[in-house]
Amino acid sequence: MDFADVHRPADARRRPHINSGGDGECPAGTEHVRPAGSVGRAEPVGDTIGQVTSSLLPHPVTAEPFESPVPPGAGWPGDPATPATLVATTTREVERLAGRAGSVAELDAAVSVCRACPRLVRWRETVATQGKRASFADQPYWGRPGPGFGDPQPEILVVGLAPAANGTNRTGRMFTGDRSGDWLYAALHRAGYASRPASTHAGDGQVLTGVRIVAAVRCAPPANKPDPAERHTCGLWLDRDLALTAPGLRSILALGAIAWDATLASARRLGWTVRRPRPRFTHGGQTNLVTTTGQAIRLVGCYHVSQQNTFTGRLTEPMLDEVLAGL
Ligand code: SF4
Repeated sequence: MDFADVHRPADARRRPHINSGGDGECPAGTEHVRPAGSVGRAEPVGDTIGQVTSSLLPHPVTAEPFESPVPPGAGWPGDPATPATLVATTTREVERLAGRAGSVAELDAAVSVCRACPRLVRWRETVATQGKRASFADQPYWGRPGPGFGDPQPEILVVGLAPAANGTNRTGRMFTGDRSGDWLYAALHRAGYASRPASTHAGDGQVLTGVRIVAAVRCAPPANKPDPAERHTCGLWLDRDLALTAPGLRSILALGAIAWDATLASARRLGWTVRRPRPRFTHGGQTNLVTTTGQAIRLVGCYHVSQQNTFTGRLTEPMLDEVLAGL
């Protein structure tokens, strides 16, 4: 295996994808195989470049060896994709692939291989290969978008901001392997939605019942700040998440203002009724979203479970428990 191959998903040479070149339309059913050179090595785009660890490393739970980023279908616990999963590389392709996902499983697979935001793809893969936190240098990094996690037919949809560079971007599961996740899963466990009080690695046995966790943006962004175009593009995945889960949904929990605004934007694109003027995010604030079939779904705001909020006491465990109890 040469140096370039170490940094390239093993299946990249045979992975089919939608080609939206030219006018973006292909004959029905036509798929194009991505040339080997089209998925290159990630280039550094930030300043957190640390130890280079690009060789095969054992998964912390299964001990199976993985490259970083993890190739689709390589056996990572909970990986929803396969080498045949279609890859979105533009906003238009996100819209098309999201629209044809017939289940959250299909949606999660498509999300987990998305490459539509060049800046975020470079960042997530650079962190996964060259920017690992020193304490995780002996672990493989997922290095792909974080797919939704939890009950495929939820009553509650939790919408976060974006994966953490050394959390979901390492473990491949939403809010897993970082301090924010420690808070969220502990609260979900206290409320009876999570089987375990902690969520450390994909494959650790964590099960959510009645709850599904997604995010406004599915790739780890530099400085935790996705730009408006990235938020819009990834919002198209959220549109489909809302559409697919809506029939059984009772509440949507938005963790922070960005998740709140992303959910309102998705609801509007889906043609749902949203109160005007636009409801503003507050902790504990609520508004009803009414689907095109007349179903009311409550949108509830909660301060994000980030360390910035939990360390400072802006968000306490009783505050989080109270919000969850009211969903
Ligand atoms: S942020 Fe969303 S739309 Fe952009 S590359 Fe990641 S998964 Fe795709």
